[in-house]
Amino acid sequence: MTTTSGSSAGACDVAYVLDAVGFFAGYQLTAPQKTYSVPEVINEVKDPESRKSLRLGISAGKVIIKDPSPESITKIKELAAELGELGRLSEADIKLLALTKEVGKACREVIVVSDDRSVQNVALALGAKAQGIKRRELRKARKYVYVCPSCGRVFSEPGTCPVCGAKLVRVRYSKALKNHD
Ligand SMILES: [Zn+2]
Repeated sequence: MTTTSGSSAGACDVAYVLDAVGFFAGYQLTAPQKTYSVPEVINEVKDPESRKSLRLGISAGKVIIKDPSPESITKIKELAAELGELGRLSEADIKLLALTKEVGKACREVIVVSDDRSVQNVALALGAKAQGIKRRELRKARKYVYVCPSCGRVFSEPGTCPVCGAKLVRVRYSKALKNHD
């Protein structure tokens, strides 16, 4: 009859957080509700057609460009390290995920549009959904570790084995334990 009693003016139902590929796919115009991104990702949108549709999205109030707080960035780095993804994320990726975390506080559902599997993985671990454009997205968060193919030691970040100098191989954590594939 009247409005619901919810008081939060910032509350939303579904929000999209866009990696550059999301802008190329035109989500800033077609998404049913607001889309979010960080300045670093916006700067990756360079071709004239995508810039034009980005400007349209901004002037229509459908694109919100925000910098996440340093606290959110730190939390994302911790989570990414836990998942074995930290070495695979750019600064722009980390900021986009930190923004995802912040948007998630106000929105019932957050969908991160990205073809980057590491971005998708951290997004899923945050409780967001992942949407791929050119390739199918991950459905569940995964934990990765880095194994030395020579001595079998296990590390949480990519690089070379400090003991034998071999290049570390990335494997799913569950598979590392079972020692196959
Ligand atoms: Zn080794």
